[in-house]
Amino acid sequence: MPGFEKFYEKTLQQRWETLQQQGVLSEEQLCYLKNKIYAPDLGNSMIENYITDYTLPEGISFHYLIDGRNYLVPMVTEEPSVIAASSHGARMVQKAGGFKTKVEQRLMIGQIVIEDFQDYADLKRQIEKEQTAILKVANEAHYSLVTRGGGARWLRCRQLADDLMSVDLAVDVQEAMGANMLNTMLEATADYIQTKLASKVLMSILSNFATECLTTAECSLPLSALTKGNLSGKEIGQKIVQASRVAQLDPYRAATHNKGIMNGIDAVVLATGNDWRAIESGAHTFAVKNGQYRGLSQWEIDDHHLKGRIELPLPVGRVGGSIGIVPLVKINQQIMNVRSARELQSIIASVGLSQNLAALYTLTSEGIQRGHMRLQLKSLALAAGAKTAELKQVLDVMIKKNEHNLAAAKEVVAEIRR
Ligand code: NDP
Repeated sequence: MPGFEKFYEKTLQQRWETLQQQGVLSEEQLCYLKNKIYAPDLGNSMIENYITDYTLPEGISFHYLIDGRNYLVPMVTEEPSVIAASSHGARMVQKAGGFKTKVEQRLMIGQIVIEDFQDYADLKRQIEKEQTAILKVANEAHYSLVTRGGGARWLRCRQLADDLMSVDLAVDVQEAMGANMLNTMLEATADYIQTKLASKVLMSILSNFATECLTTAECSLPLSALTKGNLSGKEIGQKIVQASRVAQLDPYRAATHNKGIMNGIDAVVLATGNDWRAIESGAHTFAVKNGQYRGLSQWEIDDHHLKGRIELPLPVGRVGGSIGIVPLVKINQQIMNVRSARELQSIIASVGLSQNLAALYTLTSEGIQRGHMRLQLKSLALAAGAKTAELKQVLDVMIKKNEHNLAAAKEVVAEIRR
């Protein structure tokens, strides 16, 4: 774009000047950008064409009792009511004994895609015969992982089309998410396969469909704990089960059911410096693994209890990527007092289930809007320019007038300032 040539080579100061010279931002706006910077060297080293830091609010969710341990859970989100709902769901489960979780294994899968072969069965046989040598090549490409107790574990072949196959390599990535480490190992392995087996490699890259890194969280609540107003605990429990069925039957509902779950999951993934795009893509692929997109959690009822279960891939790390670089991530790990990547998976899955419980409980009892109204009005009032000190007054007037839109919020702000 004219005027922005070699933007990536400019210093931060020069980038700001360019934005001003090109008439994109005023001096006042540039000042805002400059003041928002929290660690210029950090940002500049993490991404390209860096100009400022974009901040999101962080809060703590309470009442998490997971596998007998209590946790404070930091959450980063811009959406009102996510943290309140998370704490609400967690408190209901805490009173009933807490979440129980399971992480059977932590393997990441990478793919080496081979094209233009003549005989799939023959190539598969050759690759399987070479398995030990191939795993050795992979391990030598990132040997420090082996010294930590991790490394390549197995491989498998899958035919994708007449001329395409995937060699899947499973790697124990220990405490990291492992994407970069795995990609290094895959490239070395791909070279070996290409040379040794005269195969044509199209590409090699990790898969975010982390089927060998699944986490489950479960909870069981006495029906008596669900009672609300005129509705008995049993009635609410039955409605939650029906809502859960709808998310298994109908992709329109499943998408929203899972969005609610990801409200909590993404917020913890972000707070812990993990790659939320990786978690999102893995979760949604897992949700459609049987050919239809379904809810990631399910609820059932017996005579006395409502039981919930969530299962999803959670390839998160406690080290690596931006985790060791961003100071706030270290602080958040300390707030959580999380000791391993497996433990982090357990917390995140529990947050997803808690968020889902809170959402279904509200949806099937009072409806979502009543509880959200004040929070939404607050967002409208802030968007209308209300100062923190004016918020209560603005909200009270808006509720009284029963007008919930930006124009009304602006009017009320102007009115109370008159
Ligand atoms: P890194 O490249 O940072 O590798 C992990 C680092 O952690 C290594 O340097 C390793 O040290 C170190 N480490 C220290 N202690 C341990 C331990 N106990 N277990 C394991 N490693 C340890 O990050 P990842 O490989 O985890 O990759 C994650 C990053 O990759 C994320 O930023 C993600 O966004 C990005 N990414 C994601 C992709 C995707 O999802 N499709 C694709 C490409 C990148 P040593 O070197 O000594 O082994």
